[in-house]
Amino acid sequence: MIVLERGPEPAKQTSSVAAGMLAPISETLATEVPLMRLGLASVQAYPGFVEELTGATGMDTGYLRCGTLLAARDGDEAEALSRELALRERFGLTVHRLRASEARRLEPALAPTLRLALDVPDDHAIDPRKLTAALAAAFTRVGGELRTSARVAEVVARGERVTGVRLAGTGEQLSAEHVVMAAGVWSEEVDGLADEARVPIHPVKGQILRLHDPSGPGLLTRVVRFTGGYLVPRGDGRYVLGATMEERGFDTSVTAGAVFELLRDAFELLPSVTELVIDELSAGLRPATPDNLPAIGPGARAGLHWAAGHFRHGILLTPITAQIALAGITGEDPGELAAQFAPSRFSGIPVAA
Ligand SMILES: Cc1cc2nc3c(=O)[nH]c(=O)nc-3n(C[C@H](O)[C@H](O)[C@H](O)COP(=O)(O)OP(=O)(O)OC[C@H]3O[C@@H](n4cnc5c(N)ncnc54)[C@H](O)[C@@H]3O)c2cc1C
Repeated sequence: MIVLERGPEPAKQTSSVAAGMLAPISETLATEVPLMRLGLASVQAYPGFVEELTGATGMDTGYLRCGTLLAARDGDEAEALSRELALRERFGLTVHRLRASEARRLEPALAPTLRLALDVPDDHAIDPRKLTAALAAAFTRVGGELRTSARVAEVVARGERVTGVRLAGTGEQLSAEHVVMAAGVWSEEVDGLADEARVPIHPVKGQILRLHDPSGPGLLTRVVRFTGGYLVPRGDGRYVLGATMEERGFDTSVTAGAVFELLRDAFELLPSVTELVIDELSAGLRPATPDNLPAIGPGARAGLHWAAGHFRHGILLTPITAQIALAGITGEDPGELAAQFAPSRFSGIPVAA
């Protein structure tokens, strides 16, 4: 098996910008029940997935079973949190209402102005950069060939069947029985496919800060989410503060306004955020589909599979995406859940054999 990757620049790889929350419960929306189910299935697969990866490589993935707090700063936000709690209870998800004093006992760095919090003990986090490095190492150890700086220019087909890809620059052609399109927001740049055989994907920009505490870990032990952002601890004194949601095409600039607003909102809940050292400011492009659901599995052209359009959840959905995509390649039953994420929903063309 060969994996082709266009280049190492972070702006061209959303996963290296991502915060790494594994948060199907915190991020549940009443309108996205299938996505919640997929997220819950993926989160269940995570411990085994991480154990297998670490066992195969000896590498740490930064998987942190830390739990999450949803925090409200004022009356309006507290009311909104009460509605969020009711929704999750309706779905039978584990969420506990905490008075401000209870939340501050768990996380003493939270501001005294905190109004209310929800404890989501089963939403955790991982370090996406460590995860990607471990996946790459595991892949090459079992004989996979990883070619970085190898941009696919075109999908090659014989008749209706995809038979490989052609690389940009050298024009080298690689034959394959199965090709998986996993090029994030750049999937649309790959030529060789008619519009009806494609998954429409557009970028949603997210700006994010990476910080560390010079005095070490402990300031925050759980992910804290609030209106407008979140703070994710890495467990070693590093933190990620994110993220904006912006429709700005392929722009990946970092703006003063976004950084200001993220820090201002975080400061209201965690005043000591101002003591942290800024390590990195970055922006990435979430690959969004028109219905905000990922496209996983065989598409409208035989030989071409998709693992794309994961929008805000690509890190969370990594293990379940691998399972569904693999089932599509081996011809096994991907499970009932997979049908809602079939790429062919965008083309009206039935899945090719
Ligand atoms: C600020 C921010 C925070 C986020 N936080 C979270 C989070 O907390 N939890 C979560 O689950 N998700 C999060 N996400 C979303 C997550 O990062 C994405 O859903 C995920 O990275 C999408 O994965 P992907 O593999 O489809 O795309 P990418 O990660 O962008 O990977 C695409 C790869 O394809 C390569 N490529 C592109 N074109 C070609 C080509 N022509 N030939 C060869 N290779 C090519 C690219 O170089 C890249 O390596 C966040 C995203 C952002 C921007």
